[in-house]
Amino acid sequence: MPETLVQIEPKPPHGDWRDPHVEFRKGSICYSAAPKNLTALGLPNPRAWQPLDSDWKLPPDWKRIILDGMKERLQKYRSFRLFMDICVRCGACADKCHFYLGSSDPKNMPVARAELMRSIYRRYFTLTGRIFGALAGGRELTEDVIKEWFYYFYQCTECRRCSVFCPYGIDTAEITMMGRELLNLIGCNTNWVLEPAANCFRVGNHLGIQPHGFKDSLDFAADEAAEITGLDFEVPINRKGAEVLFVMPSADYFGTPHYYTLLGYLMLFREIGLDYTVSAYASEGGNFGLFSSHETMKRLNAKIYEEAKRLGVKWILGGECGHMWRVLHQYMDTMNGPADFLEVPVSPITGTVFENARSTKMVHICEFTADLIHHGKLKLDPRRNDRWIATYHDSCNPARAMGLLEEPRSILRAVCRNFHEMPENTIREQTFCCGSGAGLGTDENLEMRLRGGFPRANAVKYVKERHGVNLLTCICAIDKATLPTLLEYWVPGVEVAGVHELLGNALVMTGEKERVADLRGEPFQTETQAAITVSEADHA
Ligand code: SF4
Ligand code: SF4
Repeated sequence: MPETLVQIEPKPPHGDWRDPHVEFRKGSICYSAAPKNLTALGLPNPRAWQPLDSDWKLPPDWKRIILDGMKERLQKYRSFRLFMDICVRCGACADKCHFYLGSSDPKNMPVARAELMRSIYRRYFTLTGRIFGALAGGRELTEDVIKEWFYYFYQCTECRRCSVFCPYGIDTAEITMMGRELLNLIGCNTNWVLEPAANCFRVGNHLGIQPHGFKDSLDFAADEAAEITGLDFEVPINRKGAEVLFVMPSADYFGTPHYYTLLGYLMLFREIGLDYTVSAYASEGGNFGLFSSHETMKRLNAKIYEEAKRLGVKWILGGECGHMWRVLHQYMDTMNGPADFLEVPVSPITGTVFENARSTKMVHICEFTADLIHHGKLKLDPRRNDRWIATYHDSCNPARAMGLLEEPRSILRAVCRNFHEMPENTIREQTFCCGSGAGLGTDENLEMRLRGGFPRANAVKYVKERHGVNLLTCICAIDKATLPTLLEYWVPGVEVAGVHELLGNALVMTGEKERVADLRGEPFQTETQAAITVSEADHA
């Protein structure tokens, strides 16, 4: 019950914070990865185990593996060593994490989460720690520490909100990533992260949808777009020589409400006559490698570029996805780039050169569409979205990792007449996470998801009560999958939609039949329809 979960009592820990013992509770942990998924990815120590077991069946030399892994990464990643050394414990980040705000567990303060790793660093990798141990803030590496890492590094959505407030720019998400990467070395990983990663590696997308299933899904969407508009649609798959490769999160073609976003893309591409193709192998923008290890992230990112090369496209356009863009903007170039075999993206409609994508050769669909709108290339009727009073959730990765703040808003303002922002300290760079990112969106982890999503839901509640908001828009597939549950729990009556769903509603396509319903099949509001009919008659 919401009344129960909202009772959050900040309780200082009874004992020393350095005690690593954790009470694992159902509802706040993710299940372990199935051995077949570790095997598929070539990861070590595949076995049957669960976090609630007392014996995690770690390899006999697990301690050496972790310390060697840590040493290697301290040498390889300068940021890792820096983040281990420079925290002054000012506490500015302490109350900025949604998991701390929603759970009141002190170890969910970003500074404390990082300290779980830092204490091991001090003990084994600093002179004072090696000599003075606990007196110098060090801790022994024990099996309980491994369990504590697992618990708290899988209670961080790698959202980077805390880093916005850190005067030193310490990125706790990077520390979480290192923690998860080290845990992976001894086979401590979660199924909700590794199963999609393994499927993506073997087949091309998270659910392991085979090429014929992929084609069926897109054909179905094309038929539906045709029915809505009265126009013919075709989605080109694996078409060599197209100008643009379009990559979307797979949820767009199998999930709801994502699917309506897909309809919006298809309508847009047809209307502007975009010369594009999708790929049956690069049929996933999401990259769950980001949530497990750099090596897996690199391999999953590479397949998009290999497909771009194979198909001979000029550049890549990416759909509404969250972490795809974090991987693209922060890691792609040093992992697999530069993509010199592609061209600097240029909009074939407006001639805009996307200088920001000079290295990655990949443009975000919101940048692309906002540019079209800015140049007056789309005919839009925002009245078709009159049943919605919308707000916008800045998905963490596009907002904080790539600064995509204005483009989605400029689209929304063009396609929707009722739009209200949530409070300033909950949007843009300071946006609150959905609470289910970074591979935490499992059902078994539901209590922690609802707790972690509480600050976001609270801001939605504010605009619902103040302005009657009934739609939360966003541009991330994980958000679209998890926010409906969160809102149903904390703010019933608010639905979730992608920005390109609203664009698809508002887009007046050349030669379309009279449209009476939106992409969800809901009739346009009566007065809206009347106004549309009158103005179209005037126009004629
Ligand atoms: S990255 Fe996000 S989830 Fe992780 S500690 Fe920081 S605020 Fe919390
Ligand atoms: S804000 Fe930065 S320096 Fe201050 S406690 Fe947090 S991580 Fe450390």
